[in-house]
Amino acid sequence: MPKIPGLIKGLAVTARTLARTVTKGAVTVQYPHEKEEPVTRARGVIALKEDNCTVCMLCARECPDWCIYIEGHKYLAPPRREGGKPRQKNALDRFDIDYSLCMYCGICVEVCPFEALFWSPEYEYSEPRIADLLHDKERLGEWMETVPDFEPYEAGSEAKPKKVPR
Ligand code: SF4
Ligand code: SF4
Repeated sequence: MPKIPGLIKGLAVTARTLARTVTKGAVTVQYPHEKEEPVTRARGVIALKEDNCTVCMLCARECPDWCIYIEGHKYLAPPRREGGKPRQKNALDRFDIDYSLCMYCGICVEVCPFEALFWSPEYEYSEPRIADLLHDKERLGEWMETVPDFEPYEAGSEAKPKKVPR
């Protein structure tokens, strides 16, 4: 059983909150009837720029939840110059992210060395069936349209040039 002073303190908080709600209105947003605009850099959903992906697998290896599934195959591309050797390249066959497992840590976006993954602030993609939270590369590619332009860094946040020791 709670101690009496603690109970009184708790009831006081409830009374204060109730009074504030009655006078100023609720602080919560009544989603989905009301919607807040997410900030530009909000982590809503990950978008894939397929042309930039080299199937290096780094994102899948670093993902702590193991929820990125990638498959690809190698092929020979024509040489860059006449008389040169054909180039070995990777083609992306499958790139899925399972959003029922993803914890939105952003590691995959950070580690991608080829600028193939981006955050979009879009967040309305809940599904009645959990299996539909697996987004394939076509769906991840469609999210690219919702990726905002890169915002300039805030003043003073740019990396300072390193001092070269003499
Ligand atoms: S945001 Fe994190 S958990 Fe989600 S896919 Fe990327 S690395 Fe995995
Ligand atoms: S790290 Fe980037 S380039 Fe490598 S597989 Fe992932 S998305 Fe593709």
